[in-house]
Amino acid sequence: GGGVSVYDSEVDARHRERAGLADEVRRLLRAGHGRMAREVVLHYQPQVDLVSGRVVGVEALVRWQHPVRGLLPPLVFLPLVEELGLMQLLTDHVLRRAAVEAASWRHDGVPLRISVNVSASCLTHPDLLPLVDEALAHSGLAPGRLVLEVTETTLMADPDLALAVTHALTRRGVQLSIDDYGTGYSSLAYLTDLPATELKLDRAFTVRVLGEPRTADIVEATVALAHRLGLRVVAEGVEDEATRAVLRGFDVDESQGYLHARPLAPGDFTRWLAALPCPARTAEVVGAETG
Ligand code: C2E
Ligand code: MG
Ligand code: MG
Ligand code: MG
Repeated sequence: GGGVSVYDSEVDARHRERAGLADEVRRLLRAGHGRMAREVVLHYQPQVDLVSGRVVGVEALVRWQHPVRGLLPPLVFLPLVEELGLMQLLTDHVLRRAAVEAASWRHDGVPLRISVNVSASCLTHPDLLPLVDEALAHSGLAPGRLVLEVTETTLMADPDLALAVTHALTRRGVQLSIDDYGTGYSSLAYLTDLPATELKLDRAFTVRVLGEPRTADIVEATVALAHRLGLRVVAEGVEDEATRAVLRGFDVDESQGYLHARPLAPGDFTRWLAALPCPARTAEVVGAETG
């Protein structure tokens, strides 16, 4: 009847829309660095040390400044990039740009870390290691200032290869972060084998620490476990002061979220950074990192 055909035409329209966007994604990524430099936009979100209050790192988050559709969030186009098998091209661009931009950033004289998200297909792609080497050499960024964020699901795709690549990365001094921690599988197994330096507690936990005692217990115990294994803990999605205070009480090292800043366009980020007070000139910071 009519209802079914209306439904069909809506589904058709959605399929056409998706196929159209996929075509555009393909053209964008095949056009090379020139067009990507105009339309692929990196926003930067600070990571703040919970004890000193200093900005210590930044996560690069990709957006597509589409000429007609406006600024598109990653969840709209990244699945298409992945389906098209073109994620390596995007990562190549993002990593080079992020490394160059980050190489000049300092807060209070201290260079910042830059975190870049790497998907499963990229982590185990043969081009990743040469790309990382080139991005570091070209930007002058110290390897220890580069953090690659991978999810547990990413690692699950090909565990043996993922392990080999992550060891090759850490031999170069590049840091590895387990992103969205707590939402995937086999967390404990990975914690023992992976040469990670950071664990990013998923926002799903962050938003529940205030209202759910059992979640709070899990977070507190997870932080203790991570520290025991020598990992730094970053909480994502911190939106309010009360949450920050609880996380600090649980010994979480760093927080990232709207409380500090939304992901910012490069110019906005450097202005935001320049407007910060200098904590090293206050009495609060004792024994802060200097190098
Ligand atoms: P993610 O790596 O877990 O990044 C954190 C996401 O949480 C970002 O969404 C960020 O804007 C958002 N966020 C940060 N603070 C808050 C907060 O206080 N409240 C709330 N509600 N959200 C917050 P975004 O930018 O939309 O990115 C979504 C995902 O897309 C990322 O999740 C990451 O998995 C992926 N992604 C982003 N950039 C890249 C990239 O260059 N390469 C790859 N492979 N994936 C990327
Ligand atoms: Mg991330
Ligand atoms: Mg995350
Ligand atoms: Mg997340």
